[in-house]
Amino acid sequence: MSVLAMKFGGTSVGSSAAIAQLSDIVATQKQEWDNVVVVVSAMSGVTDMLISGANAASRGDRTSAQSTAEALRTRHRQTLHELAGDQADTPAVMQEIEALIHEYELLTQSVSVLGEASPRAIDVISSLGERMSVRLVAAALRAQGTPAVHIDATEVVLTSAVFGNAAPLYPQTRERIQSRILPLFAQGITPVVTGFIGATEQGAITTLGRGGSDYSGAIFGEALDAEIVDIYTDVDGVMTTDPRLVSDAQVLSHLSYAEMGELAYFGAKVLHPKTIRPVIERGIPIRIRNTFNPSHTGTLVTREASASTQAIRAVTVIRNMNLITVEGPGMIGVQGVAARTFGAVAEAGANVLMISQASSEQSICFVIPNSSGTPVVDALERSLRPEMDRGDIDRIKSRDDVVIVTVVGVGIHERPGVAAKVFGAVAAADVNILVIAQGSSECSISIVVAAKDGDQAVKALHQLAIAG
Ligand code: ADP
Ligand code: ASP
Ligand code: MG
Repeated sequence: MSVLAMKFGGTSVGSSAAIAQLSDIVATQKQEWDNVVVVVSAMSGVTDMLISGANAASRGDRTSAQSTAEALRTRHRQTLHELAGDQADTPAVMQEIEALIHEYELLTQSVSVLGEASPRAIDVISSLGERMSVRLVAAALRAQGTPAVHIDATEVVLTSAVFGNAAPLYPQTRERIQSRILPLFAQGITPVVTGFIGATEQGAITTLGRGGSDYSGAIFGEALDAEIVDIYTDVDGVMTTDPRLVSDAQVLSHLSYAEMGELAYFGAKVLHPKTIRPVIERGIPIRIRNTFNPSHTGTLVTREASASTQAIRAVTVIRNMNLITVEGPGMIGVQGVAARTFGAVAEAGANVLMISQASSEQSICFVIPNSSGTPVVDALERSLRPEMDRGDIDRIKSRDDVVIVTVVGVGIHERPGVAAKVFGAVAAADVNILVIAQGSSECSISIVVAAKDGDQAVKALHQLAIAG
């Protein structure tokens, strides 16, 4: 039995024209594969709208959530009507979507009464986008002649209770997916599953993190022993850099898992960083393809190292970062200071993206998201107070206007002179490097620069990715 897993992102389900395109792609693939499973995101922009309406409600503004509900009703109704207006089951599908919008109204009312949107509440609220879109997409497939049913992944993807960043639990998830979906395959029915969401053992709805539908696509692909996981999006594949930033960015036809993991981790939004986790062990290839240009072969991501002669294959940027520096003569060599520094960071719940230690300057610096800046500095000041009083630590600095720019390529550490080229290119662009991190991974070099210099640095380094 051959299985293809296909995931369609927000723009690929963002309008009736896009969903019609999706339906064509699914119908074509169904001719080639015994079975396909379709995983979808919410319609483009919907998750953001749901969350910002909820946040407004928590501040006492109820009208914003109300207008979100209205906008969602109109958009889903219109799209459903355009795609499946003449189908007998369309009124029932619209009723289900209406019920979800009503749930949004009730949830945001509670949030406004409580004056607070907890991570758990935000997860239920943001799950509604995918729960609406699966119903819409399944109806569109049926209208076009492909037997399809929608599935809420909350039924099958069992996760930890870490709201906003839940982890799927295996092997239960795999077993549940198989027992729910294999009978549908046996009847020739195409399941259309919500990306992004799951549920705890107790049934609380969780999300896998923003952009997490890609991860869901890989989870379902792995559980169903798919031969390939196709990620359909709005660009031709993974490119040498974000095409919105550099117009001559080029599509990469092949990447290794290691390169893709690094690119995604360091900010290439085209694939969620956790997507490769479920597929690595069995070596299932991931293909990134364009819903709006389906004849393009896209990017194939596999275990094999790429045959490319380029050392630097792509450049990424992560914005809104904060560079924290802890400085002082007692910073290095005094037992436990580094451990306590990172203990404080962990206590503040911050995600450290990069660490660098300058031995000569007696400092440790690291990069965290800007949103964690204040809690981390507070936690550091509390935890390192004795050292500061003794003068072992002079100060804790926070610089909230930095970005991380990363070059990725499996050949980076194998070939001499690549780092020199990187620093040369950045210097030639007149950009000052604040911190360098190399070696933590096998295939990247990251630099931290001022936010105002970010685009300049990406453009300069991108020349190396396309020039060789
Ligand atoms: P989807 O909704 O399909 O998941 P996303 O918006 O999450 O789509 O990701 C696709 C977008 O990622 C592209 O439109 C592109 O602007 C952006 N992007 C950033 N870096 C890259 C890159 N290196 N290659 C391709 N796209 C990139
Ligand atoms: N809809 C979710 C988000 O916007 C998940 C996804 O699109 O991958 O984050
Ligand atoms: Mg995405």
